[in-house]
Amino acid sequence: MPGGDEDKCIEIGINCPPPQKQDGGLKGTSDGNQKRQDIINRRHGQYSWEVDGHTNKESKIIIKVVDEPIQAWVAENPDTKVNALVVGYKKGKKDYFDVNSYGMVELPADNPNALNGQYTFDKKVIYEFYQRNDVPNRVKDQWGKAEYIANMINSILEYNKTYSDIISIGDMRSPSDGPTYASSSKTHHANSGAFDIRFLGKNGTIKGGGTPSQVNLEKTQFFMDCLGKHSFTRIILSHKLKNKGFKVSGTLGILWDPSTVHDNHYHVDMGTKFSLKPE
Ligand SMILES: [Zn+2]
Repeated sequence: MPGGDEDKCIEIGINCPPPQKQDGGLKGTSDGNQKRQDIINRRHGQYSWEVDGHTNKESKIIIKVVDEPIQAWVAENPDTKVNALVVGYKKGKKDYFDVNSYGMVELPADNPNALNGQYTFDKKVIYEFYQRNDVPNRVKDQWGKAEYIANMINSILEYNKTYSDIISIGDMRSPSDGPTYASSSKTHHANSGAFDIRFLGKNGTIKGGGTPSQVNLEKTQFFMDCLGKHSFTRIILSHKLKNKGFKVSGTLGILWDPSTVHDNHYHVDMGTKFSLKPE
């Protein structure tokens, strides 16, 4: 409100870059998130600053601080003008992953060529992945529709509000939204939105396999609740986990697999064959 007597309000995320220089520059605001968090804690939501020896107490500028969570969503990449999976802060820094002509994105990774690795944003490990593109000379196997990957990341971020386990992602879909190779002779993941997740045990993700008896029931149900809040329709669980009290949740139904295929991981997708009846 230029020239007015009312206070000017600038809203920023605590994870945004520091405010631009104004009237000689803002001091005491650019030392990173911890200092900003301290300021928030001290001042109950009001941003403190100093400009050339003057403080916000004398000024009519109030900067409100918004504590922003990391999120994933789909939006146009302002640089390429192409739709993209976005991971980051709505009002702060972001990573963009442009879709291909099928609307597909490769699962974000710190090193996209790694067989096993992780994706880190703003120093937080969002997830790990395993056996990426592990069948030589075959179709790539960690791709998904941008909106489904956004939903998957948001489910994981929601899970991590309660549990610190790092979720580990396996096979997904091909770059053209088709199935991927389970081995040199078999394909799998015929359903859109498919992804595999390693079992969650008492001490977190069970690496290198695991058995249904090692599955932590509480964590698994909580992860299912998160998936059911983010529009996934189906989890495939080993029949050995039947009668353990698992409940369908939100949009998520359960398909019980009578074979041994899902004896060492969970499978999630947008398939339509499942039970919505509580087991
Ligand atoms: Zn699967």
